[in-house]
Amino acid sequence: MISAHSATELLQELIRIPSVNPDGAPGQNATGEKEMAGAVGSFLESCGAVVTYEEVLPQRPNVIGRFPGGHGKSGLLFAPHTDTVSVRGMTVDPFTAEIIEGRIYGRGASDTKGTMAAMLWAIFELKETIPNLNTAVAFVGLMGEEAGQPGSKHFAKAHAEEFDFAVVGEPTNLETVHAHKGCVWLELSSEGRSCHGSTPELGDNAILKMTPFIADLIKALENRLAEFVDPVLGSPTVSLGKIEGGTSPNIVPSSCRITLDFRETPQLHAAGGSPALVASILEEMKIADLIAVRVIGDSVPLYTDPAVDGIKRLQSIGSSLTTAPWFCDAGRLAEAGLPAVACGPGKIDQAHTKDEFLAISDLNAGVEFYRQFLLSFA
Ligand SMILES: [Zn+2]
Repeated sequence: MISAHSATELLQELIRIPSVNPDGAPGQNATGEKEMAGAVGSFLESCGAVVTYEEVLPQRPNVIGRFPGGHGKSGLLFAPHTDTVSVRGMTVDPFTAEIIEGRIYGRGASDTKGTMAAMLWAIFELKETIPNLNTAVAFVGLMGEEAGQPGSKHFAKAHAEEFDFAVVGEPTNLETVHAHKGCVWLELSSEGRSCHGSTPELGDNAILKMTPFIADLIKALENRLAEFVDPVLGSPTVSLGKIEGGTSPNIVPSSCRITLDFRETPQLHAAGGSPALVASILEEMKIADLIAVRVIGDSVPLYTDPAVDGIKRLQSIGSSLTTAPWFCDAGRLAEAGLPAVACGPGKIDQAHTKDEFLAISDLNAGVEFYRQFLLSFA
């Protein structure tokens, strides 16, 4: 139960409820989003919302609050995520929400409990006004943003068409991020047959099946990626981030895996994305039967037309239009047809850090910003 008397106290209470994404932090305070969703839900109820929970994964719900007075109106959605990254390596206490020299410290202070607190406090301050606005207002706390985005995928599929515009909560310094690349991780693997290292002729070395092709494959990919340049986001990229194979010097390795990180433009995504591109290049190189390809992670690119009403309103209260090198839940919502942007207080370089914080002045600026945004519908 939240009993905050200010946005600062609200953010402190949110930080004190650990909600580390269990997928991204095996064994480390992997407490999931359930308690956070419950706290946010009860706060939304205290602001007059009708609250529902949708369990996306066991014990890991999205929390949705719909405010009264919205019937027959266009729909505005606030959509921060409730999970955080792991706390490994942090040099400040992740969950005490200590205030030092005007900054609130803790995991999620910036990404993205700060944005969530600013959104919730603006809603709290305007709870009498919201039913009379020229828009329906809803809030969703999305689970699972930091690993695979199951929360926004689930929500977008079920609810995207109920809304006309979504503001996803991320620390953007209150700029409007309307475009970002998607990210796809592909694992390429080769299989062989292991045997003792003293008799390599009896085995089939999986590393030697893979490695002769890596440099040519990357070069071919880079050439083809240049065909999918986006005027705003630039060229898609590929990076070879990981290579694994073998278990011991005296064993011929039976498997080898490389992992490629692709940053996709909307054009590449629309053309089938990097899995299709890799498959066609492996065919051309005549090694498709040697190398297996598996998608181990993907998030979609974001592009929301700057002409949509919601972006015009954000600009009218001083937010400038920008793009981002990172990805977020806005891509999932936009993919389902809901125009979405990311816009929130704080700076992305404070996110995921060992001493994550949000300045109280930034938090309060965020509250005022979201208040002005809501009041643009008055
Ligand atoms: Zn985030």
